[in-house]
Amino acid sequence: MGLQGGIKSCNEKMLKGWKEAILREYPKLSPKSKFRFSCHKGLSCFTQCCGDVNIFLTPYDVLRMKRALNLSSEEFLGKYTIPLLLEDQKLPVVLLKMRDDDRKSCPFVTSEGCTIYEDRPWSCRMYPLGMASSKTEDRVDGEEFCFIVEEGFPCLGFKEDKEWTVEEWWKDQGIELYNKKCEPYKEITLHKHFREGKGLGPSKIQVFYITCYNLDRFRRHLFESRFFSLFDVQNELVERLKTDDEELLNFGFDWLRFSLFGEDTLRIKDEALETKKRELGLNIG
Ligand code: SF4
Ligand code: SF4
Repeated sequence: MGLQGGIKSCNEKMLKGWKEAILREYPKLSPKSKFRFSCHKGLSCFTQCCGDVNIFLTPYDVLRMKRALNLSSEEFLGKYTIPLLLEDQKLPVVLLKMRDDDRKSCPFVTSEGCTIYEDRPWSCRMYPLGMASSKTEDRVDGEEFCFIVEEGFPCLGFKEDKEWTVEEWWKDQGIELYNKKCEPYKEITLHKHFREGKGLGPSKIQVFYITCYNLDRFRRHLFESRFFSLFDVQNELVERLKTDDEELLNFGFDWLRFSLFGEDTLRIKDEALETKKRELGLNIG
């Protein structure tokens, strides 16, 4: 599904208010900070937390989940997500769509647990930790820190004996890989373009959404257009982009920096430039 399906504006003030409350009130954890937690079958709260929750999916979350479910990007986005638009930056984001049942359950929860556990999203991996950042478009040098998430339901995991440091938890949950894969995405969302108060127009919002979340459509765009006759991309990379979603997502981030901000992350072929100049009559004499 593209944005034509109707993208609702996200109440960014609410998100900002929540973020400010965390920065102000929640104890900041360091990598060595300790906490007690264990989540497992047998606890009376098991799976109770997998419902009525806002889970924003990163581009890498979407990649992992659609791959695990063996779905195309369009099928995954249409069935499992709600597209939203952050009002200030005009950046599209996607929210995991909960089921339409009394508990608003996650579509992937069963009495046995999470059916996509190996590919669960970043925020599910992080729990019971959350991550906050004082970095904004205006303040890129802000700090990032973890905090203990306080949810409305009684989470019995905190009463278990198992003790972790924050860094042990990250390692156990595979957080480092997810952070690494999303670093270029984060840099784009904090780009100076937004710092200077410039948002994105409707066509760029569309480009951003497709490139980050609808990888199958992005791939079709690359291979069914004149893209590779215009841009200088190594043949080996072109071959990998045909089948490798992770490579495609990385390439997509370069494409976004080029197409949204005019950076030189991609190179236009000399002959394509010459043709363009000729068309514009710029090389006379
Ligand atoms: S409420 Fe806490 S302990 Fe219970 S299933 Fe959820 S995360 Fe695990
Ligand atoms: S994706 Fe898995 S872990 Fe995350 S809310 Fe759904 S069932 Fe729970």
